[in-house]
Amino acid sequence: MRRARRPGKVHLVGAGPGDPRLITVRGAEVLGRAGVVIADALAPPELLRLAPDSAERIDAGKRGGGRRVDQERINRLMIDRARRGLVVVRLKGGDPSLFGRGGEESEALARAGIPFEVVPGVTAALGAAACAGIPLTDRRHAASVVFATAQTDPKAAKRPIDWKGLAGADTVVLYMSVAGLASAVARLLKAGRPRGTPAVLVRWATRPEQRVLAGSLGTIARRARRARLLPPALLIVGEVARSRRRLDWFGRRALSGRTIVVTRSREQAASFAALLAEEGARVLEAPAIALRPPRSWAPLDRALERVGGYDYLIFTSVNGVARFFERWQSGRRDVRDLKGIAIVAIGPATAAALEARGLRVAVVPEEFRAEGLERALRGRPLAGARVLIARAAVARDLLVRALRRRGARVDVVPVYRTVASHEGAREVAAALRAGEIDLLTFTSSSTVERFTATLRRLGLGRRLRRVPAAVIGPITARAARRSGLRVVLSPRRYTVPALAEAIIRRFRSSPSGIPRGS
Ligand code: SAH
Repeated sequence: MRRARRPGKVHLVGAGPGDPRLITVRGAEVLGRAGVVIADALAPPELLRLAPDSAERIDAGKRGGGRRVDQERINRLMIDRARRGLVVVRLKGGDPSLFGRGGEESEALARAGIPFEVVPGVTAALGAAACAGIPLTDRRHAASVVFATAQTDPKAAKRPIDWKGLAGADTVVLYMSVAGLASAVARLLKAGRPRGTPAVLVRWATRPEQRVLAGSLGTIARRARRARLLPPALLIVGEVARSRRRLDWFGRRALSGRTIVVTRSREQAASFAALLAEEGARVLEAPAIALRPPRSWAPLDRALERVGGYDYLIFTSVNGVARFFERWQSGRRDVRDLKGIAIVAIGPATAAALEARGLRVAVVPEEFRAEGLERALRGRPLAGARVLIARAAVARDLLVRALRRRGARVDVVPVYRTVASHEGAREVAAALRAGEIDLLTFTSSSTVERFTATLRRLGLGRRLRRVPAAVIGPITARAARRSGLRVVLSPRRYTVPALAEAIIRRFRSSPSGIPRGS
């Protein structure tokens, strides 16, 4: 074993209750420089993306050979990696000190002389209370709350539960309450809580797939059995749970309970996915394309050598702007070299990306596609003008042809290329089989073709045709129809925010959703 002179530190980090955005700022910060992440089953998997690509990722929640990775082994892993000098993040669901063996892990580290830190997290009870609309100590009904476990297996819970004491609190929250639900409820009743006391089960609290079952102490166990409720879930018991019908902000968002597939490349998906998630959607990211550098930078480098000679510089995507300027900066160039060149953007997002770099955009068309750009340049004398277009290696040639027809000398240089990606396809396939998908979304024809090809290969071509699709504009719509998809939505403006807005409006106005095909 390689031993470092000074051991690294172990951070026992509370990952929060489920929604990855509910981790603390400190937790995100240490994840960002982790050398190794040892994650629990209940830690949101999305959080692993915050760790550097080079970080080792150990899934401590996986059942190997029918058993979980045992506690001893986790302790040994933490100590071993710390001794190698690594920054170790032990990522635990909720808060490390509540029902999560954080204590045993800190003890082991202290015994081994390894420096450690505990980063608290939002525990599941607080996440569930917030997102199920239950103020745990609403002073009109409750002055005390207790967090306990319904785990009554005497081997697992080393101390017996004091049910009498527990039942005396105004609000009772029980963790691990699926398997032992019936017996926990029976004990609360026996300890004197009335059968009519409101009782609410919350599964996957704070996540878009959150599910709430409401009843009373007398009914909740039967309801859970009928609904075949599976872990993880917790039970909230007390008068405070009555308010949930009025306070359920979480379930009332326009896209609550909806599953929407986003097929843009990872780099481009984030802002779109965030707009949908903001309204409560479960977003499945299945990037049908991935962006790569062009096969050669030579054409761009040549163009940049004589960039001052161009009259127009045209960008057709945010990504084109980003890649162009990465290359630009690596060559010790100066924005002043762009003086006198009219900068053209295909749409508002591209224009914003240019403006963020301190460049004034001379032309943004009314209609955000190649045809619109061509139209926007109509008033300008183009005969003899030199035009540089920085864009994807393969793109529609319409614009180039139109400009050449009008006498412009056009150079097209690739600043990135797109390749097929199958990331996330399996998850989408499973959701499609389970009938969970409410809407597919497409923002380019190339993603339509690649996405449908991938799913056809997985044998899901027919199912795909039944799910409604929303597209960014007419070109994508045509590609989608050609691929057999059922296009139900296309916004008037061809932008991602307009597409998101149209989706939200559509679901809000028809709460039962866009009808699926028969
Ligand atoms: N340390 C964790 C609890 C771990 S014990 C925390 O502070 O939250 C595991 C139990 O927590 C589960 O059985 C379940 O009762 C509860 N739990 C964790 N995440 C949950 C979630 N997203 N929704 C509902 N219950 C959850």
